[in-house]
Amino acid sequence: MSTTVVFMQVSHKLTAPHNPALEYYKQVYAKCRGYHMPEHFMEIPTWIAVISGMLPSDRYEKVLHVVTDVSETVEWANLLPHGAIIMMSVMDVNRKIVHALLQQVRRKFVLGGYVDPAQFEQYHKAVWLDSVYDVHHAMPTSVEQHGDPDYSLFNRMSVIPRLKLSEGCLFNCAFCTIERKITMVEWPDVLSQLRALRQLNFELVYLDDKTFGQADNWAWLKPISKRIKAFNPQFRGFIVQTTVPMMLKHFEEWVYEQDVAYIEVGVEHVDADYLGRMRKPYNLKNLMNLCREVRRFNRRGTDVEVGFIPNIMFALPDADYTSTIEWVERNVDIITFVNPFILCQYESSKGSLVESAEGAHDRDENAMVKSWLTDDEVYASGVAMSQIMNLTR
Ligand code: SF4
Repeated sequence: MSTTVVFMQVSHKLTAPHNPALEYYKQVYAKCRGYHMPEHFMEIPTWIAVISGMLPSDRYEKVLHVVTDVSETVEWANLLPHGAIIMMSVMDVNRKIVHALLQQVRRKFVLGGYVDPAQFEQYHKAVWLDSVYDVHHAMPTSVEQHGDPDYSLFNRMSVIPRLKLSEGCLFNCAFCTIERKITMVEWPDVLSQLRALRQLNFELVYLDDKTFGQADNWAWLKPISKRIKAFNPQFRGFIVQTTVPMMLKHFEEWVYEQDVAYIEVGVEHVDADYLGRMRKPYNLKNLMNLCREVRRFNRRGTDVEVGFIPNIMFALPDADYTSTIEWVERNVDIITFVNPFILCQYESSKGSLVESAEGAHDRDENAMVKSWLTDDEVYASGVAMSQIMNLTR
């Protein structure tokens, strides 16, 4: 008899109902070829594919359930077979919903994610995993520890799947939680990720690497692109994320030789002093040079262009957004769209932009209200975010 495993994902319609960035992304994605946003999440939760790939189908019946209404989910989950296991990834934005489900659903839960697990110790029905690769500890029968990721629960969904060539980043930005160590993914694991992508409908692949170009295996993109095109002729290229100097140094080579189509860049806040406070690894001269080079490249009259997507940060303490807005205005012709981020302060942040962060929303990436901002600063930050989104939609 097989065990029912429910991968439960909370819809962003519940976790971010008032986040204006969602509407913005819907509009800008519609203008960019290859960009797709599924109805309930920005992108496919990779953890589901990874764990699903470890659970043999002859022993586990796998189900995807999206939470759009907590009461309806409680009712549905309490009708699951008694041995069913519910898996969830817990983040600050959904943890209250996870608590509500744990209090009302009479089934076993397996949890993991980016919050303090101590808050779930009170629930005897819940098991906490520090890594997806520990899932065998929580399952009644054996698992395939090295199975390919399995996207069958998202079969033929139009998405932008992720591919990982490395973990970590050597830089030390104050607000960031990424480990300061680079670990490269081995080639057989890359092939395993590629095999899994056959189940999806996609034109672009998002590179999970935090600062593309740091790990020595970045040149694997070319052979990876060839392999993807062999089973997916629609494939247009990669989206990578990197720093201003790294993009300045490599982007022509990446676009021409590695099939990079879009580059996300951590601009954050266009102010020399504030960049120092954030410990960002670039200066304003680098940024000016990058804009000039992207403009020159995209205007040279060929079909090959690079998409330029700056990350911009809001809810910053003591910040004035005038120079950032002016920078966006001056460069709107080369900006594909922006990624607006709201500052959060976590225990694992590499530094601290704020003296204390004990507010109810300080770790909520969808809430502009933060304990380090006055009401006027919350308002000013919201206005700046709207202005920048309006300039670039
Ligand atoms: S913000 Fe980006 S560049 Fe800075 S430490 Fe984090 S991953 Fe690295």
